[in-house]
Formats: sequence, structure tokens, C-alpha cells
Amino acid sequence: TLVGMSESKRVLLAAPRGYCAGVDRAVVAVEKALELYGPPVYVRKEIVHNKHVVTTLEKRGAIFVDETQEVPEGATVVFSAHGVAPVVHEEAKQLSLKTIDATCPLVTKVHREAVRFAKDDYDILLIGHEGHEEVIGTSGEAPEHITLVDGPDDVANVEVRDPDKVVWLSQTTLSVDETMETVRRLREKFPALQDPPSDDICYATQNRQLAVKQMAADCDLMIVVGSRNSSNSVRLVEVALEHGTKDGHLVDYADEIDPTWLDGVRTVGVTSGASVPEILVRGVLDYLASQGFDDVTAITAAEESLLFALPMELRKDLKAAG
Ligand code: SF4
Repeated sequence: TLVGMSESKRVLLAAPRGYCAGVDRAVVAVEKALELYGPPVYVRKEIVHNKHVVTTLEKRGAIFVDETQEVPEGATVVFSAHGVAPVVHEEAKQLSLKTIDATCPLVTKVHREAVRFAKDDYDILLIGHEGHEEVIGTSGEAPEHITLVDGPDDVANVEVRDPDKVVWLSQTTLSVDETMETVRRLREKFPALQDPPSDDICYATQNRQLAVKQMAADCDLMIVVGSRNSSNSVRLVEVALEHGTKDGHLVDYADEIDPTWLDGVRTVGVTSGASVPEILVRGVLDYLASQGFDDVTAITAAEESLLFALPMELRKDLKAAG
């Protein structure tokens, strides 16, 4: 039996995985807006960074646009979970758009911190990935005061006006370990560097990374369900590889799994990013079961119960509609 056991194929399934409170709220906001106002409902940028979610909402009448100017005057527009710069609210006002702001409250929290430290005339070092929508939105709160720091290697380039008045903030979906390394290097350079009032990397990002860390060393292969433009999903593959998984891949759908990935593999880890519906994970588990990986064990790193109320504008209209 020992031989049999050593040959058995198994899956370690991370928990928590998939939808966080901010994504759930944003997706439900678009669904409710479609029900309440009827299609089309415009959405500025991908509501959350997941291909399946976006195509599903498109089929139901959501129209995704890149810029506010693409929305017809007077129409309804939803702002994505990643947040927008104040200038975007201005643009919407000028076009008389009805706006529903699905910015995750945990992103809004970082915006508020940025505003506060800018008001106190700090140099704000925003750790994040250049070009990511969240970073563009947060930077837009105080462009004069914010400098982007894109990872540890970017620290050498950072300059500030007054090294005694510097604070760091971050994007919500970064690698916890890499961010700590960036902060360590920043503090070497600016010893008076202040920490944010509370964690900017959100609970969902932290918990999903924690679960992957717990199982990474036991996995020959890690399959992360998520889209390429999803920051927190991409980080999960990196975290797995850094913590001992031999091979790791990001897939949107089960049919992207290359069967050769499973050659010689005994233990497959499975998880999903914060923007990923559970049905896509089911698809991956079904495929793995068909390949003999039908023994699934959950690895639970944390319990999550957070829920956010829908955007205020929507709640008002839902209430008025009875
Ligand atoms: Fe909010 Fe975190 Fe989810 Fe982003 S990943 S939507 S910050 S809870």
C-alpha cells in the first residue's frame, strides 16, 4: 500500500480563494444596474480583471469602455472596483452621466490616506505596478505629492523633497513579501519613512497569498485561475514558485491547461484570484479529476466573512424602486 500511496495523485485546494468582498460588490452592482435601469449600462474599464466576468456581463447588456468620453451623454456608467482619479468624476459630471461608483472601499481607504498626507505636504511613495488602473486612480488624488515606486529595484531612482517627511502607501494587490523588501530598501534610503496608518495590501490579497505559502512546498504544480491583467492572481503564481512549487501557471479556463504540465506530477495546488468566479475553479477540478487527480484536500489559511454594502447611489434607486 505504501507504493500505492506514493503514486497517488492529489489536489490541494487553497482557501480562501476567489471572490473577495470588493469584487462581489462590484459585479453585483453591474448586475443590479442592468436589472434596474435596463441595458445598456456602461462600465468604465473592466469592472474587475477577469475575462469570464466581463464577457458574461457583456452578454447581459453591459458595455465596457476605456474612457469616460466614450459614454453617451446622460447615460449610466459604473466605475470599476479599482477606483478612479477625481478627474474622472469631473468628466462624468460634464457629460451629465449617472455614475455608480463600484470602487472597492479598501481602495477608497488608500485614496483617503493619499489625500490626507498630501494635505500635510508629505512626499508619498506609492508602491505599485506602473500602469495599473488602481495606481492611476490613487495617484490622481495628489499627483504633485505622489511618486510611484514599482518594486525593490525602483528604489534607487526615488527622490523626495524632504527626507524627514516621507510616507509610503501601496496598491492593494501586491506581493506582501516583495512590498516589505521595497519598504526595507526605502527605509535604508529614508530612515524617517513613515508607515501607512493601516495595511494597504488588502485582507483578500494577504489571505490568498498565505494559503498558497502554506501548501506551496507540497505541490509539484500550482494552477492559479485568473486573468493575466489581474495583479493579485499573477502574484499568486509568483508566491507559489518562491515558496517551493516546482511549476506554476495562470489559466483563465480549464481548457488552457497543457496536459504535459501534469507529467510526473503527484500533487497539484489549485487556487484562484480575488476576481475569479468559483465555477471556473470547478472546471479546473473537473479536468484534474478526469486525469486521475480526484483526491482533493482543502488547505485553509483563514476564514473570511467580510461583505460590503452596494454603492450608495444604487442602494437609493433600489429602495425607491421598492
Ligand atoms: Fe477590494 Fe482587495 Fe478585493 Fe481589490 S482585492 S476589490 S482591494 S477586497
